[in-house]
Amino acid sequence: MSWEERVKKVVPYVPGDQPKFKDMVKLNTNECPYPPAPGVERMLKEMSYEDFRLYPAPGADDLVESLADYYKVKPSQVFVGVGSDDVIAMAFLTFFSSGEKIFFPDITYSFYPVWAQVYGIPYETKALDKDFHIKASDYTYANGGVIFPNPNAPTGLLEPLSVVEEIIRVNKDSVVIVDEAYIDFADEGSSALPLIDRYENLLVVRTFSKSRAMAGMRIGYAIGNERLIKYLNDVKFSVNSYTMNRPSLLLGVEAVKDDAYFKETLSKIRATRERMKQELVQIGFSFPDAQSNFIFATHRSLPASEIYGALKEKHIFVRYFNTPGIDNYLRITVGTEDEADILIDALKEILKERNSL
Ligand code: PMP
Repeated sequence: MSWEERVKKVVPYVPGDQPKFKDMVKLNTNECPYPPAPGVERMLKEMSYEDFRLYPAPGADDLVESLADYYKVKPSQVFVGVGSDDVIAMAFLTFFSSGEKIFFPDITYSFYPVWAQVYGIPYETKALDKDFHIKASDYTYANGGVIFPNPNAPTGLLEPLSVVEEIIRVNKDSVVIVDEAYIDFADEGSSALPLIDRYENLLVVRTFSKSRAMAGMRIGYAIGNERLIKYLNDVKFSVNSYTMNRPSLLLGVEAVKDDAYFKETLSKIRATRERMKQELVQIGFSFPDAQSNFIFATHRSLPASEIYGALKEKHIFVRYFNTPGIDNYLRITVGTEDEADILIDALKEILKERNSL
């Protein structure tokens, strides 16, 4: 056998582009269009580079405690990682190890099948209904675990808590991960977090990348019962004790502190999202009713791939997935009010030029 035959071969996840144009409007990776809380900048200036010679706290204690405080849980119920991608990857490794098939929707975060593949976890996807909703009844069969985002990506659709709870309730013998990367943008009362006391098999995963405007810092976290978190930490400490770097820990705490700023940012993004929805409808788009910081839109006459290319030429970046079932949709991140104006004007121009308005 050659060395190359001994190599694990996988098809990797493809993240959205990070183009570098100065004049661009970047609506392709669901980042927050506003800066992080002012305290983050203050702390950045106060941080001493001399501290960088020391390892970070292996348990990420300060950040864990500030999140525990914020969500009114015990620190032993909180796990942090390098973005929720890291948290979910650890969770796959920890909780999906029975050898039985795990379940997730067919249209969802495209990283799930990649993690399953890299860890050798068998999986089965469950088709969404024709309106892109998750059918709880699909998740009632024996499985090795379940994961789905709520709101789902890339559709932006929120499942009511009753559907989420039903999936958790019927799967008492496996871990159910609810990926709440976008929940802060949804209506209040939508999160599965209050269910962690009732269901010990529930892990809720969140991120600082979208609502807390810190995608570049890479901070994610999971909240669940103490035993789940202990098992997650055991695996983490068996892979890399120091996943979180010192700046992320310090700056993450500052982001959590400023709740007023956080809520203001969310309400601005929600308001722009609702305006973008209205304007998109007026120019011939339709979409599932997004509760996220992005809108998954399709046009009545012009193919999404063509619109995507035409926007790109104008340095307006949105996300296009050339995947069956969703290949006529654009996933458009909600930007600032100005960015929304630029996008809508550009779309009008593109549609007019092609007699599609
Ligand atoms: N879950 C979902 C559904 C996502 O869309 C993303 C963003 N790509 C993530 C998790 C990961 O985000 P991050 O690693 O930046 O926390």
